[in-house]
Amino acid sequence: ERAEIRTTLSQLYEIISNKSSPAMRFIRSRVERMSQWWIQAGLRMRQSSNKTSLTQMRVLLYPGALAGSVGQHFEAMVERGGPLGELVQWADLSACLTIIGQNLIFSTSQHHLHSLIGAAPGRGSCPIQRPLTFDLIYTDYHGLAHLQGAMGLAFQHYKCRFRILDSFGTEPAFNLGSYASTHGYKTLWGSWGLQPLQYMTMFPHTPDNSFLGFVSQEAIKEEELEPEIYRKDRIAVVYGKQEYMWQGKSEYLNVISEEMEIHATVYQPPGHASKLPRFIKNHGLLTQDNFLRLLRRAKVFVGLGFPYEGPAPTEAIALGCVFLQPRFEPPHSSDNNDFYKGKPTTRQISSQHPYTEDIIGKPHVWTVDISNRTDVQEAVKAILGTEVKPFTPQEFTCEGMLERVHAYITHQNFCTKSVPTWPPESALRLHLGPLGQSCVKVCRRSSLMCEPALFHHLNNPAAFTRLGLGCSNIVQEINHLLPAYSPWGQHCGLQQEPLLFSCAGSDPSQRRLCPCRAHIPGQVALCSNCF
Ligand code: UDP
Repeated sequence: ERAEIRTTLSQLYEIISNKSSPAMRFIRSRVERMSQWWIQAGLRMRQSSNKTSLTQMRVLLYPGALAGSVGQHFEAMVERGGPLGELVQWADLSACLTIIGQNLIFSTSQHHLHSLIGAAPGRGSCPIQRPLTFDLIYTDYHGLAHLQGAMGLAFQHYKCRFRILDSFGTEPAFNLGSYASTHGYKTLWGSWGLQPLQYMTMFPHTPDNSFLGFVSQEAIKEEELEPEIYRKDRIAVVYGKQEYMWQGKSEYLNVISEEMEIHATVYQPPGHASKLPRFIKNHGLLTQDNFLRLLRRAKVFVGLGFPYEGPAPTEAIALGCVFLQPRFEPPHSSDNNDFYKGKPTTRQISSQHPYTEDIIGKPHVWTVDISNRTDVQEAVKAILGTEVKPFTPQEFTCEGMLERVHAYITHQNFCTKSVPTWPPESALRLHLGPLGQSCVKVCRRSSLMCEPALFHHLNNPAAFTRLGLGCSNIVQEINHLLPAYSPWGQHCGLQQEPLLFSCAGSDPSQRRLCPCRAHIPGQVALCSNCF
């Protein structure tokens, strides 16, 4: 059966309406609020009939963070200022898959999971493996462990059908267990040995993974923009739902409060005496509807430094706020920061929200040294003196997400033994990096993206010749820095383990061979010559 583009979300409401936990209520209310945009985007997609229609797949959505004991804790925190970013993504993913005509099942309990995919009890101690009836399973790191428990031996066989929602990303060196444990990359989360592109991130920060993203409330089109919709009050809203995030930030907030009224949405337990500075107008945790309404009126959205890389800053920018955030000097990473410690990434986080800093920038985003009073003052004055329009990068609109997920479902297949065929070799732009630079950086310097699915085209002696490099010897090794060239002794290294092709890897003694490609404006995951 073909998957027809739908212009209703009723199928989705049917499968989630019987779930009434706080997390599922959040998801449902988000889907309902955004349904008109999804439907319009679906209609436009149908009209621009250049999309080849897909076969309809049976897709299981299993957010492991909502199941079991982790789930109980997560649910308890939803209405107390706990993290909501994952729920934003699950809501938008389920709406997106519904519009592109897929057949979804949504499960949030281990018991339900077992009944859907578990091995049947067999005779004695030998359970009977059942064939998996799902073509795709979207889950998270918690869910992977649940799936392994439920599927037994079938887990290895079917794991090519999994897609892992993984906000902060998993680099290849951490993903391959044997390599991670012998090379100092072993972490609590990594070592599942999936294809790195099976991990799907919240922002496009780790091109070794697929960028899934979410939808920021769409900017109203310029011609439809009635001035009063985005008339800004002279107020700032602080990014931080829990009181601990505010520690040590009063001086910074003081400076801002000299110019404008500061609002907050900090959860306050009943009977708790607020420790927020007195000049803060706290609304308590708001529903997402009301939170976005507040942002619509606000001129500035103020980052405190934590949480990292969440959805709220892009939402604020989409509603015409300017995002003011701390620069991290030195950058935060798993080496120096408790939050990133144990996360399977070597990324260096240069500010609270590197995507908005690097990809959006001024006038929408100001990244400052918040310990420098003058810098903060000058930024606030400059912001107040500038009219800034709402802005949403194309990749964070419904259409952008539909286009991206449609492309992934059409072209990503991790169950074949052959090398990846998408994007095609014609997309390859071969670059030789300087010493010590990762391919993420090398490609970005040329306004290109590192494309791990193209590595296999340059993992051969001819690639060195094309780059004008003479090799004194060519070796093939298991090392996430390869393919690479070492100028000392003119060593040329090729990659022996395809799971270790890595855009992220860098080393001071190696010049990486990088598979870069161009991308569509505003949509880094896709290239125009990819289809
Ligand atoms: N949000 C909300 N009520 C509030 C503050 C925020 O519903 O009072 C929403 C916000 O719209 C955003 C989501 O919470 O989509 C996640 O926010 P954040 O960026 O803080 O990420 P998190 O750290 O929660 O994952």
